[in-house]
Amino acid sequence: MNYEKNQILTVEIVDMTSEGEGIGKLDGYPFFVKDAIIGDKAQIRVTKVKKNYAYGRLEKVLTPSPFRVDAKCVFHKKCGGCQIQAMSYQRQLQFKESKVRNNLIRIGGFAPELVNKVMEPIVGMEEPFHYRNKAQYPIGKDKEGNPTAGFYAGRTHDIIANTDCCLGVKENQQILEMILFYMKENHVPAYDESTGKGLIRHVLIRKGFQSGEMMVCLIINLKEKNRTHDYLPAQSKLIDALTTIKNMTSISVSINTEKANTIMGKEIHTIWGKDTIEDTIFVRDAEKEFASAGRGVTFAISPLSFYQVNPVQTEKLYSLALSYAGLTGKEVVWDLYCGIGTISLFLAENAKQVYGVEIVPQAIEDAKRNAENNGIKNARFFVGKAEEVLPKQFEENGISADVIVVDPPRKGCDAECLETMLKMAPDRIVYVSCDSATLARDLRVLCDGGYEVKRVRGVDMFPMTVHVETVCQLMRKDADDSIVGNVVNRKINYREEEILDCGCIYG
Ligand code: SAH
Repeated sequence: MNYEKNQILTVEIVDMTSEGEGIGKLDGYPFFVKDAIIGDKAQIRVTKVKKNYAYGRLEKVLTPSPFRVDAKCVFHKKCGGCQIQAMSYQRQLQFKESKVRNNLIRIGGFAPELVNKVMEPIVGMEEPFHYRNKAQYPIGKDKEGNPTAGFYAGRTHDIIANTDCCLGVKENQQILEMILFYMKENHVPAYDESTGKGLIRHVLIRKGFQSGEMMVCLIINLKEKNRTHDYLPAQSKLIDALTTIKNMTSISVSINTEKANTIMGKEIHTIWGKDTIEDTIFVRDAEKEFASAGRGVTFAISPLSFYQVNPVQTEKLYSLALSYAGLTGKEVVWDLYCGIGTISLFLAENAKQVYGVEIVPQAIEDAKRNAENNGIKNARFFVGKAEEVLPKQFEENGISADVIVVDPPRKGCDAECLETMLKMAPDRIVYVSCDSATLARDLRVLCDGGYEVKRVRGVDMFPMTVHVETVCQLMRKDADDSIVGNVVNRKINYREEEILDCGCIYG
């Protein structure tokens, strides 16, 4: 097959990659086409040819897929934040379910029959837009030199002006327009990455969905020597404007003078109102279509706190984890990778004792404060790596586990951590994952070590994107000593190398 760059071809999109690109095939040779949707017949321009596959650009949709919808955002192709906005929401959910299913089969090596048996329908959203409680907008200037806010185009750092992202709350636009107006009126310069000059770098906006409280944090390139009493020029004018926003609760600046890509600086100064906003996550009954169970846990959130960005789905995710944990009030529960203790505090009321482990010290400080504010006395938190804290507490201090919950970052659990979990032999393990490829790898290790996957359910925390969260329940095959003995002495077959998400979803 000899294809050439810039060649125009007509292809049927028969499949999709886990990253949301359409796959067209000509005589079995695949073309990866961004923005094409399964079911489209499309004209494409070849952009790169490799030995076994090629990339193409979508030139024209000749016959649209039955799953194609009008995207809400005019920038969705340029922005890259929403990879599958032009796909119907129902089809997005199906796409995500298949992604989890395929990873369990191809990476985890689980039999398709088992996967079909344990997988429950993915939990979608009723309103799949405006779900994010947090937005971070870069600030720059346009060709005329006016301040602008928007998003970085593709893989560049060029800002495309757009203050109205349809995943965020409606207040974002109003707040950003106020900040841009203030900058223009008072000649406050935007930060320029190439020179390291200018002041305003980013704007962080957060909203507590239950409390309604709003937080604005301006990330500024303020060098020590320039510092006056105020952090911003004409600071009171900005505060006067922002405080007209309903429920404005906290306005702060974060000082970041580094040239690196990190958005937030370490230093935060509140310039108006409180240091934190509050939000409450309510417990729901996952076995009864997530009906409200009445009680909730309230969290204080600072500009630097990690907090799940989709609060509506977070309630469902945590409620599912609680249900899979099967607590009766007598259990010792570990919550590994606990962040600010959200899952730990969610579980605490139904457990005898909860232990949380998290690598970021500030997050553990937040977790302790949150436990105290909610009157929770049976939660204890450790700062450190899960793979170091867990073996230490188990082997040196003899702390056991009836249930272990893990919610690791994308790279999954460390081998040492999985090995210790097997040694501790809890009755149940609940695995919450944001990457089903590493989830599948880790489940294989746990199942080879004596556990059985009982339930798996996807939760759509990020509609319009290709990401999917998964919750799994594992049970120890039985409490038979011989199995536990085997587990303890077993050498774990853990693959260190990065596991790539498998390519084709429907192939
Ligand atoms: N369960 C929390 C946070 C999940 S995000 C919530 O739902 O809010 C994963 C967390 O794991 C992050 O807070 C990250 O800082 C932490 N983390 C990353 N590597 C870790 C490690 N090796 N040991 C412990 N925590 C780690």
